[in-house]
Amino acid sequence: MQITANFDSGNIKVIDATSPGNVQLEINKDNQSEFYQWFHFKLHNNDHVEHVIHLINAGKSAYVEGWDDYQAVASYDREHWFRVPTEFDGEKLTITFTPEFDSVYFAYFAPYSYERHQDLIQSAQMDIDCQMLLLGQTIDGRDMTMLKIGEEGKGKKKIWLTARQHPGETMAEWFMEGFLDRLLDEDDGVARALLDKAVFYVVPNMNPDGSYRGHLRTNAVGANLNREWLEPTMERSPEVYLVREQMLEIGVDMFLDIHGDEALPYNFVAGCEGNPSYDERNKALEEQFKKMLIAITPEFQDEVGYDKDEPGKANMTVATNWVGEQFDCLAFTIEMPFKDNALLPDHIVGWSDERSSLLGRDVLTTIYHVVDDLR
Ligand SMILES: [Zn+2]
Repeated sequence: MQITANFDSGNIKVIDATSPGNVQLEINKDNQSEFYQWFHFKLHNNDHVEHVIHLINAGKSAYVEGWDDYQAVASYDREHWFRVPTEFDGEKLTITFTPEFDSVYFAYFAPYSYERHQDLIQSAQMDIDCQMLLLGQTIDGRDMTMLKIGEEGKGKKKIWLTARQHPGETMAEWFMEGFLDRLLDEDDGVARALLDKAVFYVVPNMNPDGSYRGHLRTNAVGANLNREWLEPTMERSPEVYLVREQMLEIGVDMFLDIHGDEALPYNFVAGCEGNPSYDERNKALEEQFKKMLIAITPEFQDEVGYDKDEPGKANMTVATNWVGEQFDCLAFTIEMPFKDNALLPDHIVGWSDERSSLLGRDVLTTIYHVVDDLR
């Protein structure tokens, strides 16, 4: 038996892999950080026997409640990811699985590789409506890439989407893939109508270094990018600095920041109710967006989510709050589950890459229904 993780977004430390009945592994911390939760490794064994795999430090990970009712994902072909029996005893996370083939990958959620990210942006740029902008480089020397879709014009709304500030939240880039696929479909009436009214500025991956390194939450030097929006620097958080500069230059009429939540088995949004200048207009826009998305898909709901911020008590280092306040615009954090949508469970795949992409498509329709009211 061999267990390896030396590949794009791999993360595991082998403690003892001598006996299939008691495999002991640890999840590595993000570099220069205490956060850990993302795992991704490959098991090779020509004997297709039952493997009992313990992640022995799961109980001290960033979001311990994330392991309750959680099932890990596995894949033989790295295309189709399915849930496997997983238990958490308060200390260790245990996956019990009998492989049907010689090699199988396990992960926290369906991975979204750096190579796939490159494929996504390279193919997008070939669309007539799309321009690829290279904003600069990350600390590890990767490109910070923004896609501009549509043509600027008088009265056109400026709509921004960012994803994967937290690199372990791969569902955020799966969401982006579905969103872009629909926005760039020239046969899609919703996309065509929207591009008459708006220009889209899209950053499909805000944290390419953390993504490649197999981090949960931070960039190459341990910065949680979604706490850097008030005072980003090129030394510590160039990813935020570069995108924020663009926003200040171009302007923002609407902002969506795409994430995944470890604990809650629902899709939900978090808004700007705690911002200093939040008012009735902001609130009405938020309600309009949520009502429309609920009408469009049963995957979304507004009953369960984060506790609301008290008026004026928002954390202004968070992207959604900073953008909402700076530009007095509709701004949401969209959260998807690592587990499943409890309102519409699928026991084979749970919440999945495909479902994330479909939600991205549905959010485009939702934008179509609010675009005229943004200003
Ligand atoms: Zn997040």
